Amino acid sequence: MKIHEYQARDLLDQAGIAVPQGEMVTTVDAAVEAASKLLEASPPVLVVKAQVHAGGRGKAGFVKVVKTVEEVREAATFMLGNRMVSPQTPPEGLDVQRLLIAEGVDIEREIYLAITADRSRRTNTLIASAEGGVEIEQVAEARPEAILKVPMHPIDGLSPYQARDLAFALGLHGKQVRQFTDLALRLADLFVRTDASLAEINPLIITPASEANPDGRVMAIDAKFNFDDNALFRQKSIASCFDPTEEDPDEMRAKEAGLSFVALDGNIGCLVNGAGLAMSTMDIIKLHGGEPANFLDVGGDASQEAVTEAFRIILGESSVKGVLVNIFGGIMQCDRIARAIVAAAEEVGFDVPLVVRLEGTNVEAARAVLEQASARLPTMRTATDLADAARTVCAAVA
Ligand code: GDP
Ligand code: MN
Repeated sequence: MKIHEYQARDLLDQAGIAVPQGEMVTTVDAAVEAASKLLEASPPVLVVKAQVHAGGRGKAGFVKVVKTVEEVREAATFMLGNRMVSPQTPPEGLDVQRLLIAEGVDIEREIYLAITADRSRRTNTLIASAEGGVEIEQVAEARPEAILKVPMHPIDGLSPYQARDLAFALGLHGKQVRQFTDLALRLADLFVRTDASLAEINPLIITPASEANPDGRVMAIDAKFNFDDNALFRQKSIASCFDPTEEDPDEMRAKEAGLSFVALDGNIGCLVNGAGLAMSTMDIIKLHGGEPANFLDVGGDASQEAVTEAFRIILGESSVKGVLVNIFGGIMQCDRIARAIVAAAEEVGFDVPLVVRLEGTNVEAARAVLEQASARLPTMRTATDLADAARTVCAAVA
C-alpha cells in the first residue's frame, strides 16, 4: 500500500526526523489560506506540491517553489485543474485532488536515502547517493558505483557505526554527520516498526550554513513510503492512510469482491483460478500473438456472486474484444463458474467472443449448465485444451 507525501512527512515527523511544516489542502482557497498562515510564521519561500502516488512531479511542473500568496493561487489552480503526466504515471496522467502547501527551504546539497528489502541478500538495505534529487534514476543507470548500499542486520537492524560510515561516504562533515546518523537510525527503526517495504527520502537536503547551524541542517523534503499489504492487519494507523481515489477503480471493485485483479493494456479479458494458472494463461495468449487485457485470479473458493462481479468488471472495459475463461477446478467447482457465466450473460451480455476451457471438479455439471443456456451465449465457444483456447481467442480478436 502506498501513502501520500504529506502522510509520509507526518510519519517522519513523529519519528523525530526533521521535516519542514506543511498542510494538506484540497481546494485553491484552502491553499491560499494555508499559505497565508505559513508566510506569517516567517519563511521567505513556500512550496506547492501535488499529492499523487507517483514521483517525477518536479520535472512535470507539479512542485513549485513560490514566494507570494498570488503565486500559490496560480500554482494551486494549475495543479488541481490539470492531470499530472510523468515517466511514473500512466500515459493519460493522474488526477490531482490534494496539494501540500509547505515551508520552502534553501538547499545546499541534495542526497538520496532509501530503505528497501534486498531480496538477493535477504536483508533490509539502505540505499544512498551523494547525488540525490530529480536525476537519481539517470545516476543509477549511468554510474551504479555512485549508489551506496548498506545491509541491515535482520535482528539488530542498522548499527550506529554503519550509519556513521555512510555519512562519511556521502561526504558529510562536522555536525552534519551526527544529524545524518540520527536520522538514518530513526528511519531504519520506522521502516521495521511499520512493516514498510519502501521508505525513500529524495531529496534529503542539507541547508546552507547559518549562525545557528554552521554546518547546515539535514532535513527530509520529499518522502515516499510503501507498506506490505499482508501486515496491514497489525498496522491500523498506516492502514487508515489508504486513499481509494488513487487506485484503479476496477482494481478497487475487484478487491472488495475478494478477487486479485490487475488491469493490463491488451484486449483479451482473462478469468482464471489460481495465480500460477493466470500467469501461464497470459503467457500462452502472448505465445499465440494476443495481448491480455487483465490478470484476474478468482481464487479457489470465490462465490458465484464474486465470479459474476469479475465478469462485470471485465465486460465493463471497452478495450476488451474477447474473453478467455480458463478454469482448472480443484477446490473451485466448474459448475459455479458456469452459473456465473450464465448470470453475466443475462445481466451484461457477451457481445464479444467468449472462449471457455473448463477441467476438473464438477466439469460435467458445468458443461450441462452451459449447454442448457447456449441460446443465451451465442458468442461462446468451448475449447478442448489450453493451447486450443488461446488459439481460438487470439483468432477471434485478431
Ligand atoms: P519529485 O520530483 O516528485 O520527486 O518531488 P520533490 O519533492 O522531490 O521535488 C523535486 C525538486 O524540487 C527537489 O529535488 C528540489 O530540487 C525542488 N524542491 C522541492 N522542495 C523545495 C524547497 O522547499 N526549496 C527548494 N529550493 N527546492 C525545492
Ligand atoms: Mn523527490
